[in-house]
Amino acid sequence: MLLFTPGPTPTPESIRQAMATPTLHHRTKEFESIFAKARLGLQTMLNMEEVLLLASSGTGAMEASVLQFCHSKLLSISCGKFGQRWGKIALANNLPHTELVKEWDTPISAQEVLEALQSDPSIDTLALQVCESAGGLRLPLEQIAREVKAYRQDIIIIADAITAMGVEPLDTTHIDVLIGGSQKAFMLPPGMSIIGLSKRALEVLEVRPTHRGGLYFSFLTELKNQRKNTTAWTAPTTLISGLVRYFEIVQALANTNLDSALESTFTQELDSSLLAQGFAKAYTHTKAIALATREAINALGLFLYPKSPALAMSAIAHADSAKIRQRMKALGVNVAAGQDHIKDSIFRINHMGLIHIYEASYAINALELSLDTLGLRSFDGAGNASFFGALKKQEIL
Ligand SMILES: *Cc1c(COP(=O)(O)O)cnc(C)c1O
Repeated sequence: MLLFTPGPTPTPESIRQAMATPTLHHRTKEFESIFAKARLGLQTMLNMEEVLLLASSGTGAMEASVLQFCHSKLLSISCGKFGQRWGKIALANNLPHTELVKEWDTPISAQEVLEALQSDPSIDTLALQVCESAGGLRLPLEQIAREVKAYRQDIIIIADAITAMGVEPLDTTHIDVLIGGSQKAFMLPPGMSIIGLSKRALEVLEVRPTHRGGLYFSFLTELKNQRKNTTAWTAPTTLISGLVRYFEIVQALANTNLDSALESTFTQELDSSLLAQGFAKAYTHTKAIALATREAINALGLFLYPKSPALAMSAIAHADSAKIRQRMKALGVNVAAGQDHIKDSIFRINHMGLIHIYEASYAINALELSLDTLGLRSFDGAGNASFFGALKKQEIL
């Protein structure tokens, strides 16, 4: 079965192998050298002042970040299920909170965020998604962050980039906290979160330390340890070994194609400049597949749900979503439903991780065949004709 859900994503054999070695003790030189590679990889990828790894799913990093930085009041943006989570975090922790709520297919605008800030000077932290996975929606994060910082330099901006990190290049100039998760574009099993921190975030942590994060999620304690290539508590050693292999694969991509990069044996050390080239290639690859899939969806007479679609996934609006998903599954392709009130009115095809073109193409074929079986549209191969046409235009083939 091809796993085409927007998290978890499939873990390639080579990453699985890297995680299948005997368990290392985390207080050893051997592990410290693996951890140093993971830090180098993340610093290259995120281009931020500091990076942290936590043993938690993405939500843990969201909660920990809010608790470290919000001292007076949180403003959060809710354009879907993940955006709603900020409010639940505030409620669970008795934090003063206000939120802007949009329909799940509609991005918030920078103007709306600015107006909310202007009307409430007690807000010190803004939390939002880069990509709201509930509806496959891309928020204009970079513009919002730029305008918010121009208005008030001292607002801390926390961006949940769990379905953007590793998918597309992100301009982190105006972002203080950038959150990622192992089970999305990193193609690792769930259980580890990734945090990028700005210079300003580090200053705030040091000048205004808060104990709200409790003992386990103290960024200051983690920073003190992780700068020395160790962790405060027992590290998720297996996932960190897998993360290093992910960086090796991306680096190999700089000089070879995807199949060879996934299968190579790695003799080279991680090198920032090669890794950055590999990432540029990985982003081009993901974007090409996402855009080509959109063209195929169009050619099949289907419509994307969000007004501003993300590259991480294609969310398709269709009244027969449940039936289409069921038919696709019978053809060997597992795609995701929606959630809550749009559970059965959309289905979501993942583009995160390093996906083979032949797999993405088969998913489109399975979709077109499903429409045929359900009597919705007869099969003529238009999906793949348009998918490959788009890839050729983007000079990917
Ligand atoms: C997957 C995802 C999360 C993380 O949720 P966990 O289940 O805690 O890992 C958070 N935000 C977005 C946008 C996601 O897609």
